[in-house]
Amino acid sequence: MRILPLFARAYLLDTPAGPLLVDSGMPQESRKLLRLLGDVRPAALLLTHHHLDHAGGARLLWELYRLPIYAHPLDIPYLSGRQRRPAFLPIPWLGDYIANRIQPLPEEALRPVEEAEEVLGWRVVHLPGHTPGQIGLLRQGVLLAGDALRVGPRGPQPPPALVNHDTREARRTVEKIARLEVEAVFVGHGPPTTIGAVRTLAERLT
Ligand SMILES: [Zn+2]
Ligand SMILES: [Zn+2]
Repeated sequence: MRILPLFARAYLLDTPAGPLLVDSGMPQESRKLLRLLGDVRPAALLLTHHHLDHAGGARLLWELYRLPIYAHPLDIPYLSGRQRRPAFLPIPWLGDYIANRIQPLPEEALRPVEEAEEVLGWRVVHLPGHTPGQIGLLRQGVLLAGDALRVGPRGPQPPPALVNHDTREARRTVEKIARLEVEAVFVGHGPPTTIGAVRTLAERLT
């Protein structure tokens, strides 16, 4: 597994069916994403959720490679432009503009995946709360959790309320992660953490 150092970390996974890219950085990082990929042409892209800092490079990758883009059905309407992304900033018009400053993805590029389905050998885990369709990927003791957790100097934390669709659900998701049979947890923002640290957090939240 390779970590691509974009604003939100992207992950490049080796699979027998080819490289699987998880998340794609900010829209303005698309060229940097291509540079980081180098010779690697992803066989598929999985978006952990619809936010701009994860879905930003998806449109360019699709235009270049026509690769399948996997996402949870609850986040697909935001990715395809059928639904506006919620504004984080409580500023009329500008908040909506900032949250949606991205080209939508064509419907034909998007492949819905749900809990327990597999994408190139990795199992999908639904981790809702941060967005309705936030998903993670799990395989052999490793969980890629997207923004379902954030890791800072004090270890793993639930994502901040300001950026969540539903913070109570996001906290229930932390408990769900704590019950998974994994060892290492990789997130969009912050360094990797351990399941032990996530279990400590889950106990504190209950
Ligand atoms: Zn993020
Ligand atoms: Zn996010």
